[in-house]
Amino acid sequence: MLIPEFDNSFARLPEVFFARQAPVPVANPALVCLNHAVAKQIGFDAKFLTSPDGIALLAGNHVPGDAAPLAMAYAGHQFGGWVPQLGDGRAILLGEVLESGGTRFDVQLKGAGRTPFSRGGDGRAWLGPVMREYLLSEAMHALGVPTTRALAAVTTGETVYRESALPGAVLVRIARSHIRVGTFEYFLGRGMQDELQTLLDYAIARFYPDIADADNKAIAFLDAVSERTAQLIAKWQCIGFIHGVMNTDNMNVSGETIDYGPCAFMDEYSAGKVFSSIDVKGRYAYRNQPGIAQWNMAVLAQCLLSQINEDQELAVAAAQKSIDAFPARYESYYQVGMAKKLGVDLNENPPRAQPISDLSNELFELMERGNADFPLTFRHLAELAAAQIRIDQVKTQDNLNQQQQSALNDFLSQFHSNANLQNELIEWTVHWMSSLPEDTAKRQHAVTGMLASNPTIIPRNHQIEQAIAAGCDENYAPFLELLDAVKNPYSDDPRFADYRLPPEADQRVTQTFCGT
Ligand code: AMP
Ligand code: MG
Repeated sequence: MLIPEFDNSFARLPEVFFARQAPVPVANPALVCLNHAVAKQIGFDAKFLTSPDGIALLAGNHVPGDAAPLAMAYAGHQFGGWVPQLGDGRAILLGEVLESGGTRFDVQLKGAGRTPFSRGGDGRAWLGPVMREYLLSEAMHALGVPTTRALAAVTTGETVYRESALPGAVLVRIARSHIRVGTFEYFLGRGMQDELQTLLDYAIARFYPDIADADNKAIAFLDAVSERTAQLIAKWQCIGFIHGVMNTDNMNVSGETIDYGPCAFMDEYSAGKVFSSIDVKGRYAYRNQPGIAQWNMAVLAQCLLSQINEDQELAVAAAQKSIDAFPARYESYYQVGMAKKLGVDLNENPPRAQPISDLSNELFELMERGNADFPLTFRHLAELAAAQIRIDQVKTQDNLNQQQQSALNDFLSQFHSNANLQNELIEWTVHWMSSLPEDTAKRQHAVTGMLASNPTIIPRNHQIEQAIAAGCDENYAPFLELLDAVKNPYSDDPRFADYRLPPEADQRVTQTFCGT
């Protein structure tokens, strides 16, 4: 079999859920990159996909007979403001395929031409955002963060006009779901309660079969989506990922990262960091992400009120209870993630007097004051733990072997600091070391956990931009090399050494753009 069978459950929903729309063919498709692992996972023959017929499929020039291409309808709150109709304006859901384990995946072409939801847009994407999403989503996957994944990137041989003329491209991506909080809002906004019920039943059957028999399915669904969302955002916070546009139309209900727009990984740490050029008020700043996720869950709750209880007062009370539980849900995942990053045993006996987040917050505060690089600070902390330094050695910075000396220097030198900050940093380091397990086996386990949760390589913004610039000249080597590096985030392989480095002053990227 060259391509998997399509089985299109979303296309079997009532017609108001979507607009049937085939991709608009492109002039001259060419393959930039094929994700062999994803192709294999969902049953595509990789060799076929690199052939002209395969590339035609990826570009939307050929639609398989059993696919059911459509543009999904959704609404959403953008930067807090209600927009009653958005929908797939430049993406086409080709259909769904089943992985060998039985999991159902959407196959979507992004940049596939105009749809009834395009409004003034051209329905196209240019190569920059396509490469950016490919790199970022593969990095996220390698870092263990639930995400949509790229199957392929192709150029179209057509020009797309933004501020300038740019090469057109299509990203083919797979996802557990493209059902967003905004999909529910679309029907609430139109007062379509029957369709809301249909959507709820569909989402439960597809993503949360465990709650199909719950007494109150709507509350069970709200709790389940909140749980996965809390888990997802905790992972973002632990790696310094800033989504950039956490509008309700960009938050799906299966707990995957979706819609990589002006997103970025932080290099120099700052709690209030914003990259997106359009986020002028900092609504989606790094530190706001957990709170915004809760806000988005509250919007989902509103959509479900009639399903929760016919008595609206009771419905609101039940929904409120679920929403109020979000910070605690988030915090528990965040504590687990941070404990692993810091090598601290959450189940130590007797229990810690101080929550892990105090320890991490103190570090973050020092990082902010010292303009420390997010990934390297944590990575060097892991290497410091691996070098088995004792507390007295940190205090005196004496009697260190060469490996210990360089581990300590590497860590401390992340902080561009004055003498005061250095002293506080040493104090913090001593405090942190006294929090590590004493038992040798447990300590080794903690070090292993630290090395496996503090990446050495993230897709750095300046490198992404260099890869995109070269890609626009049809030189894909920098993109492919960077892709190889970000797929190995914990590697110390010297061939990736350059990808560890933070930007030089003149390479720093402070703003990212939507790419629409
Ligand atoms: P985004 O900011 O990417 O989440 O997109 C928000 C909305 O704008 C969605 O409805 C998109 O489908 C639509 N959109 C973005 N770019 C384009 C485009 N080039 N053509 C048509 N619609 C677009
Ligand atoms: Mg979007």
